[in-house]
Amino acid sequence: MSFFNSISRSMTRAQRAPKRATTPTSATFSPHDSAPPTPVSAVAPPVPKPLYLCSPFVEAALVKGNFKTIVMLPKYVDIMEWVAVNIFDFYTNLNEFYGVISECCTQQSCATMSAGQTLSYTWINQDRKSVHLPAPTYIDYVMTWVQNLLDDENTFPTKSGSDFPPSFPSTVKHVYRQLLRVFAHIYHAHFHHLLHLRSEPHFNSLFAHFLSFGREYELLEMKDVRGSASAPVGISQLFDKWREMGILEG
Ligand SMILES: [Zn+2]
Repeated sequence: MSFFNSISRSMTRAQRAPKRATTPTSATFSPHDSAPPTPVSAVAPPVPKPLYLCSPFVEAALVKGNFKTIVMLPKYVDIMEWVAVNIFDFYTNLNEFYGVISECCTQQSCATMSAGQTLSYTWINQDRKSVHLPAPTYIDYVMTWVQNLLDDENTFPTKSGSDFPPSFPSTVKHVYRQLLRVFAHIYHAHFHHLLHLRSEPHFNSLFAHFLSFGREYELLEMKDVRGSASAPVGISQLFDKWREMGILEG
């Protein structure tokens, strides 16, 4: 683990008190998932285009051009170290964004972990049951779980001479899936709050960086980005749009 990484990690350690995080779920979708398709003739009000897909917000970014250059492995850097330090940064930055809008993400406003018109993620609890949780509870579980992993020397070793465990790749994939869900919820339910703060260029850049890095190191499953046909993930359209614009690789 690099010097800078170990320093910055130790500085921000213990931001969150350890809590009752249980094992996060694999991709599970709401009951809508199995609902029969709606007849085409059904009269439903058209769903307005989400703000994050509208111009100029969709183009707002701090970084111009393709993200490929900033995700490439620097010379002489171990790939595990590179992945670890980037995961740490994605987690830290996302946690700070969520901290800013968390007062708008309440049990009342976000009774489920929504990420699309028909998609709410479920959590696998200690009894292996899939349960719906309010978004703030779900996100608290995710962030506490990731913080505990980052603090765990056996998972993210910081001392020289300690190796990354063989399970490291699968652990970081799991972390990636859960952080993606937090991004997806913020875009779906709180993008207007980010706009009020004029933070959309920062948040878009963070998310595009996250997507680009995840694609480059195969940490990101496209099925998690897209969701299912009956419960698509809202931000999948953002992914496609940014690919069209040349911000992300194909
Ligand atoms: Zn929310």
